[in-house]
Amino acid sequence: MLRDGYNRTIRDLRVSLTDRCNFRCFYCLPHGEPAWAKKETLLTFEEIAKLADIFVSLGIEKLRLTGGEPLIRRDVPVLVQKLAALKPQLAEIALTTNGFDFVRHADALMDAGLDRVTFSLDSVRRDRFEEITGVDALERVVESIKYAKQIGLDPIKINAVIVRGRNDDEIVDLARFAREHGVAFRYIEYMPLDSGHGWDRSQVVSGREIRDAIDAEFPLVLKETSRGSGTSWRYVFADGSPGEIGIIAPVTEMFCGQCSRIRLTADGQIRTCLFSNREHDLRGVLRSGATDNEIADFIRSVVLEKEPRHFINDPAFSQPERTMSFIGG
Ligand code: SAM
Ligand code: SF4
Repeated sequence: MLRDGYNRTIRDLRVSLTDRCNFRCFYCLPHGEPAWAKKETLLTFEEIAKLADIFVSLGIEKLRLTGGEPLIRRDVPVLVQKLAALKPQLAEIALTTNGFDFVRHADALMDAGLDRVTFSLDSVRRDRFEEITGVDALERVVESIKYAKQIGLDPIKINAVIVRGRNDDEIVDLARFAREHGVAFRYIEYMPLDSGHGWDRSQVVSGREIRDAIDAEFPLVLKETSRGSGTSWRYVFADGSPGEIGIIAPVTEMFCGQCSRIRLTADGQIRTCLFSNREHDLRGVLRSGATDNEIADFIRSVVLEKEPRHFINDPAFSQPERTMSFIGG
């Protein structure tokens, strides 16, 4: 088992496939061309599969492919197929995507062994969607969500980052979408991981405020009395309607004490926290010709250095240098 210095067990690995994206969500990437990772620094699918094998032998049970936009990488189903060879010790292979290109790849992904998909959708208004993401693609993303449901990739989760003055007037409309489509909508507090470094506490809509707004229109019932090692408070609708609501409140209700996650960036750096100020060069170790045992020892030693918590709420907090799309959300 992978245990950190605070006795937390690490079971969940997020692997970023690329830092690039075809969207420009204002809370994640700036407009224009940021300094992307150089191609030769990106882990190949063979390298990712080899590392995943070692991570799984150490106790990783859930693996999530993310980015940037993971489906920008060519042949993602080929990678999923390689990872599926690690089942059943690897219990779940999931994908987080903006949904732009999902329909094209969905069947192949599922055939390859993908278990779950999470989409991102911050607005159900066409013009607002474009304002937030920089792309006029609401309809396309909704089609992706419907298609995922049609092919049985249930339960489908959808992430929405709520930012005051940008989309907080849609909190109830997004819940209505969850009911109509029978999906789990997960509302996420805006975190200081935006490339524009424009994050301001006044823009954070707290999890409690979000939940109260939904509850006033569609009464909610808590589904589980604890978050466990998950990040969200989960609710169902009191009237028995399909769909679910998740509230993820990393800023106002820190859940670091139960954290079970580590991240691998597209260029092969381990990040033990979203807010780490330090990365650990797994790519360097791998490419130096280290044996599997040496790689496993490196991973174990890195996990021991996992931060106790994030420091967003400390007066001395400074935003990490790399931002969400470069870290792998
Ligand atoms: N491109 C894919 C997508 O958008 O689903 C995967 C990567 S994206 C970085 C993963 C998740 O991080 C998305 O659901 C996105 O909304 C969330 N995210 C990005 N920047 C964020 C921020 N500053 N605060 C909170 N969540 C953020
Ligand atoms: Fe791209 Fe996802 Fe970031 Fe939006 S949140 S810019 S879709 S990586």
